[in-house]
Amino acid sequence: MKLDFVLKGDVLFCTEDREVQTVPDVFLICKNGKCEGVFTDIPEQYKDFPVEDHTGKLIVPGMTDLHVHAPQYTYRGLGMDMELLDWLNENAFPEESRYSDAEYAKKAYAIFTEDLKNSFTTRACIFGTLHREATEILMDQLEETGLITYVGKVNMDRNGSESLSEESAEVSAAETRKWLDDINGRYKRTMPILTPRFIPSCSDELMKEIGKIAEEKGLRVQSHLSENPSEIAWVKELVPASENYGDAYALFNALGDEKHPAVMAHCVYTDEKELAILKAHHTFIAHCPDSNLNIASGIAPVRTFLESGVSIGLGSDVAGGASLSLVQAMVHAIQVSKMYWRHVDQDVKPLQFKDSFYMATLGGGKYFGKTGSFIPGYEFDALVIDDSALRSMRELTLHERAERMIYLSGECSIDAKYVAGKKIL
Ligand SMILES: [Zn+2]
Repeated sequence: MKLDFVLKGDVLFCTEDREVQTVPDVFLICKNGKCEGVFTDIPEQYKDFPVEDHTGKLIVPGMTDLHVHAPQYTYRGLGMDMELLDWLNENAFPEESRYSDAEYAKKAYAIFTEDLKNSFTTRACIFGTLHREATEILMDQLEETGLITYVGKVNMDRNGSESLSEESAEVSAAETRKWLDDINGRYKRTMPILTPRFIPSCSDELMKEIGKIAEEKGLRVQSHLSENPSEIAWVKELVPASENYGDAYALFNALGDEKHPAVMAHCVYTDEKELAILKAHHTFIAHCPDSNLNIASGIAPVRTFLESGVSIGLGSDVAGGASLSLVQAMVHAIQVSKMYWRHVDQDVKPLQFKDSFYMATLGGGKYFGKTGSFIPGYEFDALVIDDSALRSMRELTLHERAERMIYLSGECSIDAKYVAGKKIL
């Protein structure tokens, strides 16, 4: 299939300096699935490309969800009155244990994948459950959507529940290897990622095995880091040799490197020392403000992270987060940063629209390479958004329209969606 075409509309995107470029009523060119740039007239060499006319609509880069739990999707919005460790035992673990049943997984994952396809997300890092068969079902379904994703079979051999735990480190590692063999070469847009749930769920032996598999097969790792004070204290007990929680992952070779960076969700309590470890390993932080609010984890110092130069994007963290919407995550990121500034540290300035837009698009997109912007040469991930229902008595700039769209996204619609040049909606 030829992935050459032109979109006409009102274009916004972020550049490396986290500034928003706004270019109303222009032509955005896609050639071979890659962005050629934004033009006021169609240049001669693209004259025969088909034009999709979206005049008056917003066109923004596709968004990356760096952290989402597929099996928790169908109970999102429930159990939001607990803290992390109780929430896991009472909500997450009982639900996830149901994915031992392939028929259940098929039905539940069909709901998740359909809704993810219809969301603002074009790329995502996704947790499955510890079940190999269910994880393969999830990957099969995601491949069909046209989204580009990393998906992980979860590893957990301790502190789960009777119905949700693997027997031993050996069994967990063997199942992981079997899963990787099963899916080898099966997909074009769906990639495996090693997924130790978090340190409290994985014995030292299992973490060592995961580090070994990562190195052997050149795979990335996703997990959770420094989300909640009780969790952090527990990790210190479990891995006494570690300097901090981040170091506990580093000890087991699970933080990755420049070529295979890990993604760590939350980092609410990450201090300077832990941040230095993440930067040294090129680890990506998935900031999940909705989840951090719902299960009362706290507020991550995101302005500090952005200024440190660490790689960072947004995560929905469904079902700690209630919604898959990354534009809602953008709003929550701005809102919680204001609370951090007001109540925690007045030297740390709140986030602005441009910071949040950067994290949802280019910041998180970098996890997938050159994605999340309309800079020439980037993979063509785009969303066409109709914001015409947001009537106003003011003459609004493109920047103002985009700002209103994220706060009032429920009144807007996604009219078209492209991932690496392929139209999926
Ligand atoms: Zn999570």
